[in-house]
Amino acid sequence: MTTTIRTRIAPSPTGFLHLGTARTALYSWAYARHHGGQFILRIEDTDVARSTQESVEQILQSMQWLGLDYDEGPMYQMQRLQRYHEVVQQMIAAGTAYYCWCTPAELDEMREQQKARGEKTGYDGRWRPAPGKVLPTPPAGVKPVVRFANPANGVVTWNDLVKGPISISNEEIDDLIILRPAGDEGLGADASLGIPTYNFAVVVDDWDMRITHVFRGDEHINNTPWQINIYRALGAAVPQFGHCPIILGDDGLKLSKRRGAVSVTAYEESGYLPEAMLNYLARLGWSHGDDELFTQDQMVQWFDGTHMAKSPAQWDPAKLAWVNAQYIKQADDVRLAGLVQQQLQRRGVQVANDATLVAQCALFKDRCSTTVELADWVQLYHAAPLPSAEERAQHVTDAVVPALRALRERLTSCDWTKDGVAAALKQTLAEHTLKMPALAMPVRLLVCGRVQTPSVDAVLALFAREEVLSRLRDV
Ligand code: GLU
Repeated sequence: MTTTIRTRIAPSPTGFLHLGTARTALYSWAYARHHGGQFILRIEDTDVARSTQESVEQILQSMQWLGLDYDEGPMYQMQRLQRYHEVVQQMIAAGTAYYCWCTPAELDEMREQQKARGEKTGYDGRWRPAPGKVLPTPPAGVKPVVRFANPANGVVTWNDLVKGPISISNEEIDDLIILRPAGDEGLGADASLGIPTYNFAVVVDDWDMRITHVFRGDEHINNTPWQINIYRALGAAVPQFGHCPIILGDDGLKLSKRRGAVSVTAYEESGYLPEAMLNYLARLGWSHGDDELFTQDQMVQWFDGTHMAKSPAQWDPAKLAWVNAQYIKQADDVRLAGLVQQQLQRRGVQVANDATLVAQCALFKDRCSTTVELADWVQLYHAAPLPSAEERAQHVTDAVVPALRALRERLTSCDWTKDGVAAALKQTLAEHTLKMPALAMPVRLLVCGRVQTPSVDAVLALFAREEVLSRLRDV
């Protein structure tokens, strides 16, 4: 019998969808698609104090923008509380979990004493039942937590899909809290029986959702032994784990909110295309030979969980911009026009999404890394630029002014097409025995406010004639 491959991404809605999470979502998605399996979205919202609806929406929107479609979900852990309570009760009955009445003050004291003795700190198992052991009397007025009775010795080993074999001794880890009493957040009857902690809820969910492969950030490596032990205590099949290294910022430190944008939506706003983001993110921890640019279909075809990088990748804004530029070049002009219209709208500039806008995108897209840059070009058509006095003095010289005036005159009546404008330019050059740059530079400067543009006839023909005449009036 072959098992269906099932993967998931399980973001916590305590902030936006982080780039690192987007990358593991991509790997999980591609792995499931590669094997004809299923990809699931689960929202891990048990951190009630920090989870927000706004983050949930941003996560869903980012997934949609990236095109990472899921077959099941979004599931919400806070809607599954009854199930966690049921499993906790089974574990208590089986002796693999137990109540612990330690107060925070007691735990602090325990830690201090361990430190003073030079021991490793951790829960000392004082409420853990054992044959012949007499447990303390539960204190009045304290709500207990439930702890997992972690195996006291032995080694947990797994063959990580990314990092290879990993072993962690059970002596390194203590009896983890799996259920905490709810605070007084007014979360309803289900919550009053307690809120599961991450390491427990994740196991129950991955078990119930028949997840076969878990890709996630390597900050979770130290949690994995607990999780594997819980699977075993439940008699559940342990999925395969692949822990991806963190992404470093271009300063070599962990990519974080304080160091540049790390949310997927910020890149959408900054004019990146989702397929470029996916392509770039994919390459940040995985490779297929020397291929730098590939489609999503190619990635699905190639991504089999091998060739994953073991060490952290560095975020490289210049490389991302290069990848994005390649995708913008290939992008459909009508699509770009829609994106540029949105970018301009953000700036309060309303433009019609018409054939002219499409033609402007086609003309300028080859020189843009983002749709923000493309919008900068298009905006030239809508707001008259102000050339600096210096540049004006440099390019709009006395020698060229007669030719500029003559050109303006020709432009009042020529065919208003690229060829018509080209002919007007040519005739003016011949008449004034000038070379193209001598005339094209001041025309660009006066009309566009800059001297570097695509071919000037193409640029001018996309203006309304009156606008060009008005910008050339003042010479
Ligand atoms: N909610 C966890 C996180 O966002 C999920 C980790 C996991 O994939 O197991 O880090």
